[in-house]
Amino acid sequence: MAEPDLVEARAAYRLDHWRECPDCGLVSALPDMEPGLVAECPRCRKTLWRMLRAPFSFPIACGMAATLFYAFALVAPFLEISAYGRFQLARLETGPDNLMSQGYLALGMLVLAVTAVFPGVKLGIMLTTLIGLETGFVPPRVSIALFRLYHRITPWSMIDVYLLGFLVAYTRLIAIAHVHLDTSLYALIGLMVSMAAADGALDREAVWRALERNDLAADARYIRRHPTAKVGPTPGEQELAEPQVIGCHTCHLVNHAAPGDHCRRCDGLLHPRKHDSTARTWAFLLAALCLYIPANIYPVMIITQIGQTQSFTIMGGIKELIDYGLLPLAALVFVASITIPLAKLITLAFLLIQTQRGRTTQLNGRTRAFRIIDFIGRWSMIDIFMISILVALVRFDQFAQITAQVGAPCFAGVVVLTMFAVMTFDPRTMWDATRGQAAAYPTAGMPAAGPPTPASPTPASPLSADDRGMGAKDATA
Ligand SMILES: [Zn+2]
Ligand SMILES: [Zn+2]
Repeated sequence: MAEPDLVEARAAYRLDHWRECPDCGLVSALPDMEPGLVAECPRCRKTLWRMLRAPFSFPIACGMAATLFYAFALVAPFLEISAYGRFQLARLETGPDNLMSQGYLALGMLVLAVTAVFPGVKLGIMLTTLIGLETGFVPPRVSIALFRLYHRITPWSMIDVYLLGFLVAYTRLIAIAHVHLDTSLYALIGLMVSMAAADGALDREAVWRALERNDLAADARYIRRHPTAKVGPTPGEQELAEPQVIGCHTCHLVNHAAPGDHCRRCDGLLHPRKHDSTARTWAFLLAALCLYIPANIYPVMIITQIGQTQSFTIMGGIKELIDYGLLPLAALVFVASITIPLAKLITLAFLLIQTQRGRTTQLNGRTRAFRIIDFIGRWSMIDIFMISILVALVRFDQFAQITAQVGAPCFAGVVVLTMFAVMTFDPRTMWDATRGQAAAYPTAGMPAAGPPTPASPTPASPLSADDRGMGAKDATA
């Protein structure tokens, strides 16, 4: 890893180059970047910017491909089963539809949203922004408003998790009926791959920079046409009004502004820390804990087959997979449905208690733990997707029938509430305990006293330096 170049960092000592680390709150100056380099937070090693060679063209190509797959997956069935002389088809919306007709309206809407609606919205936002930047057809203000939503919607687009749920459902279906995979399944796989590629190749910092340039150019054009017009406060005016350093939650640019002002680049609302982070995270966590018990005690589904009725809890479903000899799949469901929710509940509670006590030990370890639970949280939805696929397909009246049970919405509630808990937790509050201590690096809110710490530039691996860097770590996630 290259040593931070202090001369370069001093040359870059302007507000435009300051970024607040979203994980530890350290304000640092981005070094002069070139494609293939990665800027890391010098304190917690969070990737602040991975500069890619083709920040727009490759994500646009992947996004276009994903849109075709998405359109196909919406209209065509992906699975067909036949038993007792009858057959059933499953499309993306069939499962949610059946869950709603069985009285689980919220659960059905949740599955519909994360599998059919949000992936489309996410694709739409990405393509509108990028194509708007390339062609100039979309007004910069519209692109900025849309792209602000991109990082919020990303965790809720769950095609990848859905496909794992499909895999588990498939193993159960082949025990009940003759199963035929339909073409739309390949479209779903194509959608997953192309969306992951687009996501990995999307250089969000580059997008924000380009949007900012276009927005300023649009303002300048407007003022030239209307000489008395004045479009929003200029950065200079904001600095004079309230010289307080606040990092933007959305684009991580450092602003001189008052809490409640808007970011000068992405127009997002500025707060030094997430609102009531600790109290809100506790609220979501305790609510999730309340649902965790019924989610594991009550059955999540009932399978009726030729007069025999069997109800399954989450643990019962795993035991059945073991009985079938499907050990890897049983392990997958065990990790996704039992280990991950429990790990999230325990880890978040531990992080909250340590933060409230003002502990300054193991901050890097705690930040890493937070990153892990943030990354793995959505994979717990596997069981819910499996149930939605099973209730959609196994509808052979008195011969075979699968219905969702009250444990399923409780479990979905646990997953959603813990995801909200992770989103409301502000990891920077852990590092706030080091304020006032003789720290190796200045903390957020302190940089007015001197130049910010230079972020360390690290040459990216040959794979991620390539503009096809699908595996590239997302710089601003
Ligand atoms: Zn950091
Ligand atoms: Zn911003």
